[in-house]
Amino acid sequence: MHETGLAQEIVNIVEEIARQHSPKQVIRITLNIGEMVAVVPDMLKFAFQAIVENTPLNNARLEVQIIPVTAVCNKCRKSFHISQFEFSCPYCSSVDLTVRSGDEFLIKELEFKECP
Ligand SMILES: [Zn+2]
Repeated sequence: MHETGLAQEIVNIVEEIARQHSPKQVIRITLNIGEMVAVVPDMLKFAFQAIVENTPLNNARLEVQIIPVTAVCNKCRKSFHISQFEFSCPYCSSVDLTVRSGDEFLIKELEFKECP
C-alpha cells in the first residue's frame, strides 16, 4: 500500500520541522497531492494516524487537497484539465503535452499551537 510509505515520509518531514518549532505543537498538516499521485486520502489519513500514535504528532490533523491534472498542448497552446488519464489534447488531439500540475506531493501548510 503506497499510502503507508507516503505517510511515513510526511511524518519524517513534519517531525523535523516540529523539532525546530518546539515547544509549539503541530495541530494541522495540509497536503497538496496531485491527482496523478493516485493517493486515497482516507487511506493516507489512516496510515498517518497509525504512525503518529503515541508521538507528539498524535494531535495533528491531516488535511488533503487533491490538485487536478492540468496540461498545456504544445501544438495549439490551449490548456485543459486531464481526466481519466487521457493524455491527448481535447482541441487538436495532439499528444505533445506539457503537464503543468497534478504530479505534486507537498506539505502546503503546517499549523502550530502555542503550548501553555
Ligand atoms: Zn492541442
